[in-house]
Amino acid sequence: MTDLPPLREVVNTYGLLAQKSLGQNFLFDEQLLTRIAAVPGKLRDADVLEVGPGPGGLTRGLLRAGARVTAVEMDRRCLPALADLGEAFPGQLRVIEGDALKIDPATLFAGAYHIVANLPYNVGTALFTGWLSAPAWPPPWQSLTLMFQQEVAERIIAKANGDAYGRLAVLSQWRATPRIAMKVHRSAFTPPPKVMSAVIHVEPAAMPEGVTPRTLERLTEAAFGQRRKMLRQSLKGLPGALPALEVLGIDPSRRAETLEIAEFIAIAKVMSIR
Ligand code: SAM
Repeated sequence: MTDLPPLREVVNTYGLLAQKSLGQNFLFDEQLLTRIAAVPGKLRDADVLEVGPGPGGLTRGLLRAGARVTAVEMDRRCLPALADLGEAFPGQLRVIEGDALKIDPATLFAGAYHIVANLPYNVGTALFTGWLSAPAWPPPWQSLTLMFQQEVAERIIAKANGDAYGRLAVLSQWRATPRIAMKVHRSAFTPPPKVMSAVIHVEPAAMPEGVTPRTLERLTEAAFGQRRKMLRQSLKGLPGALPALEVLGIDPSRRAETLEIAEFIAIAKVMSIR
């Protein structure tokens, strides 16, 4: 495919023994990595933020697709391997050593960018919810292509009336469209994690008018905080929530997991104008 050394060789050369504390499960299958890098669509000359490039497998896929990659990596042991990759793709790779949780990606780019990552599981959800909670909408990112544990991926795309449905589904779907782009078997990783994984692709959608994100957040927090309770109980401490149910004719004896996202939006809208 190219004259780059196999990824296993890179890992051996630089002694990149995977560390659990850094959520390190590496991908070495270059065909799989090329397929993941193709999920966002055409990337030629597009800016891409990659979180946690590690030895650079997914980074290779993105660079081969013609992207300009800014990669944020916390593990300095990976930097020499990434420097080699930068030399193989001159002018296409910028590596930032640091903690992605402490970096606002919007400060790294002048214009729009895609985010693509085989996320470290221990920080994946925090990063994802942070990107989805961008104060400006549409957000500065054009798409998110992220590897998650399959169970988390199911919670992101969940619909009402199922066990996986909760705050993460509402946050992910009220102004964005998430889908599972592919499932990835645990054996594809080194070392293999205990569970299966899935790549989620998210694009921003129109933001419903008249809803304050903070109100929607407080509403879902209260509703799903006591998900087995009736709304009249779970929402009673939230000012304006029960009157909003009445205005909308929503039965307060229902439970949070039966409310469609459109209903959460409608309740938050009424609460936002009060
Ligand atoms: N992208 C590589 C691949 O697909 O083989 C490595 C993926 S591994 C699951 C996660 C990577 O994220 C590791 O390289 C780890 O060092 C890095 N990492 C963990 N926490 C991080 C953080 N807070 N900020 C930036 N990188 C982090």
